[in-house]
Amino acid sequence: MVKKVLKFGGTSVGSIERIQHVAKIIKKEHDAGNQIIVVVSAMAGKTNELIDLSKNISKNFSKREYDVLISSGEQVSCALLAGALINLNLKAKSWMNWQIPILTEGEHSNARIINVNVEKINKFLQEGIAIIPGFQGITKNCDITTIGRGGSDATAVAFAKLFDAEKCEIYTDVDGVFSSDPKKIPVAKKIEKISYEEMLELSSVGAKVMQPSAVQTAMMYDIPLEVKSTFTDRKGTKIFDQENIDYSKSVTGVAYSKDDAKITLTQVEDKPGVAANIFAPLNDAQINVDMVIQNISSDQKTTDITFTIKREDLSKTKEILRKNRSINYKEITHNAKVSKVSIVGAGMVSTPGVTYKMFKALADEKINILAISTSEIKISVIIDEENTLNAVRKLHTIFDLD
Ligand code: ADP
Ligand code: ASP
Ligand code: MG
Repeated sequence: MVKKVLKFGGTSVGSIERIQHVAKIIKKEHDAGNQIIVVVSAMAGKTNELIDLSKNISKNFSKREYDVLISSGEQVSCALLAGALINLNLKAKSWMNWQIPILTEGEHSNARIINVNVEKINKFLQEGIAIIPGFQGITKNCDITTIGRGGSDATAVAFAKLFDAEKCEIYTDVDGVFSSDPKKIPVAKKIEKISYEEMLELSSVGAKVMQPSAVQTAMMYDIPLEVKSTFTDRKGTKIFDQENIDYSKSVTGVAYSKDDAKITLTQVEDKPGVAANIFAPLNDAQINVDMVIQNISSDQKTTDITFTIKREDLSKTKEILRKNRSINYKEITHNAKVSKVSIVGAGMVSTPGVTYKMFKALADEKINILAISTSEIKISVIIDEENTLNAVRKLHTIFDLD
């Protein structure tokens, strides 16, 4: 007998027919003698719908009530799926976050799971299938919190860890992890196996097939994952601690995100402490600064500082900068129509010239690079948003991924 966590995303449970189809997949796994914990997302589009409802009430909707609201989509899909399994003569039961409970810590909408009471569910697993709502929990004060968009992946990994599951399978609407988003880049290829490190980089820069914090937890506790399709029987992608990485290719995947914005402060005083004075209040306001570029000062007195943030933080960031009396500059400019395009690959560690090849390819396409950041296995550039897909296609081709 194998204990398995199966996670089904929003599209997989997006309609009654799909829920019935998912119930059949679960039945097959259960009939094979496995103990099954199922983690489900809200039906496709539901969470966005709930977010829109909150906006209709207020732009500053209460953070506590926001989490109560947006966690409710999962209650619906859990009950429908449990009902569908019961209809197939299986013993199944849904559990809401507070009934278990799933204990979380941290801010509303950005909490993390720190513990789960395993007792009740473990007992139930002897006889039936447990259906768990993804993406949520309660704090020790019993407030409902959500754990970030796409967070059902993180719930699945947390359950796999806390229940000592042998397998954690992420069922979604594509066949696995691809060299780029297969819905946008049809020539992208499915990756058979990928290391945690590469998957973490890819998901952090936009490959939303896995949520970054889920990959991080899996990496930390060495929980092997498999991403596979709900709708086909094809083999998926295995994500694990790959010791023998195939370095035949320098780049494993190309990803992009369109949720960045770029801000420039011109003619900032060029003296020690200025950068700290700019970024301290942003840090206090929990605004995440991604890339920073400081130009070399031509007159030794002033310099321009450019940095990128999440687009949703743009107006708040500008407001904080304007109120900041500890910095002197000429003006604040911004560009919200930028995107981040990244190449990721463990193979780039041992391949010289990858950076040059990337920049040359973008230059050949007449795409201007607005900012650059690198890690050992990733190179990201900020470019004008209109060039995004062109850049992704070009990089996918020149790094031999088509
Ligand atoms: P789910 O609702 O199942 O969690 P998501 O929409 O969160 O599914 O993630 C799956 C989607 O991720 C795919 O439909 C695909 O468009 C997108 N995606 C982006 N990059 C990749 C990639 N490199 N490989 C596979 N899918 C990707
Ligand atoms: N329903 C949540 C969301 O849309 C969680 C998830 O799908 O993983 O973000
Ligand atoms: Mg997802």
